[in-house]
Amino acid sequence: MAKRSLEELDLRGKRVFLRVDFNVPLDAAGRVQDDARIRAALPTIRFTLDHGARLIVASHLGRPKGPNPKASLRPVRDRLAELLGRPVPLAPDCVGPHVERQIEELQPGDLVMLENLRFHPEEEANDPTFAKALAELADLYINDAFGAAHRTHASTYGIAQHLPSAAGLLMLRELDALARVLEEPARPLVAILGGAKVSDKLRLLDNLLEKANHLLIGGGMAFTFHRAQGHSVGRSLVEPNLVDKARAILAQGEARGVRIHLPVDCVVADQPEARVTPEVVAIEKIPPDRMGLDIGPETVGRFTAVIRTAKTVVWNGPLGVFEFPPFDQGTLALARAVADSSALSVLGGGDTASAVQQAGVAEKISYISTGGGAFLKYLEGRELPGVAILDDKA
Ligand code: AMP
Repeated sequence: MAKRSLEELDLRGKRVFLRVDFNVPLDAAGRVQDDARIRAALPTIRFTLDHGARLIVASHLGRPKGPNPKASLRPVRDRLAELLGRPVPLAPDCVGPHVERQIEELQPGDLVMLENLRFHPEEEANDPTFAKALAELADLYINDAFGAAHRTHASTYGIAQHLPSAAGLLMLRELDALARVLEEPARPLVAILGGAKVSDKLRLLDNLLEKANHLLIGGGMAFTFHRAQGHSVGRSLVEPNLVDKARAILAQGEARGVRIHLPVDCVVADQPEARVTPEVVAIEKIPPDRMGLDIGPETVGRFTAVIRTAKTVVWNGPLGVFEFPPFDQGTLALARAVADSSALSVLGGGDTASAVQQAGVAEKISYISTGGGAFLKYLEGRELPGVAILDDKA
């Protein structure tokens, strides 16, 4: 069921509680290092202000357990004010009489940002009294925090039980992009899966086995599959307790006609560190004392050929230890391959998003999700509580 859009609400003069995900990385000086999530929420913020809302912007930042000046939203507020080209007052807290007064004084088209929601442990606990206190600040609730939509927290879930609600423009774009991957995608649908462990991706593998035409598997998780095929993998990352499961997944792929492509070569070294001497070996020839840290050139070629045939590509997780060059090469090469393909491409997760930035091809990707955990949960076929609780389209 489609969710109501904020465009369907009468915003004029209303106090609007807008949940955004401004959980952004800060640099050593405490400034915003990557403002992608702030920029992504600008259309909703502008829309609500242009339509005369009295706007309350709320987010969490980091994982403070109680009030902590280091986790203040002040630097985020500063960046938002720069981007909007107008001052943005920051309330001293997210609930309480002082905040209520600040909101009462808002004129239509004005905004205030609340201080970090997680200064109250009741936020993550979805405490009903706290959720009600948040709801009492506003007349309407809009959720644009896709990145936090997998959380059942007071500001992502509990509050929506008390107010008329709608999805923000970013939330709608995220849901639309994901729907285009999982619901009647243009085929072939190629899923690229990387990252460290199979154990983190079991549900994802199960769901994609039902949806995708091709699975390209790289990263640390590939080695458990190689072991399942009887190869020795040296000191590469393996989850021995999942070797049987990996074998079962390969068999299921076969039975369902889903082509599962594993690396045929890899880059090995002694350690995942920068400046070690890498070597390319065939997958059956990993020396016992070395570990596979990236996909090799032959694999890049084969994976690229599959990507060329795709009409839809979905991607999560790096194909190697891309934090340490030269083990970033496989991931960067696939980023370029996805960018060069004419397929609809949707990717998510912090590592994958930064890989396409590093490769300089972010503009050629159809959609880069602002969500990590939420993106994965959706691809796993699970309901996102922060979406489910929103009012349906009329
Ligand atoms: P995930 O959070 O599951 O997406 O995993 C991301 C992590 O997987 C990154 O930190 C990579 O360094 C790591 N990774 C990718 N390839 C390998 C590999 N071959 N061996 C060990 N770790 C890897």
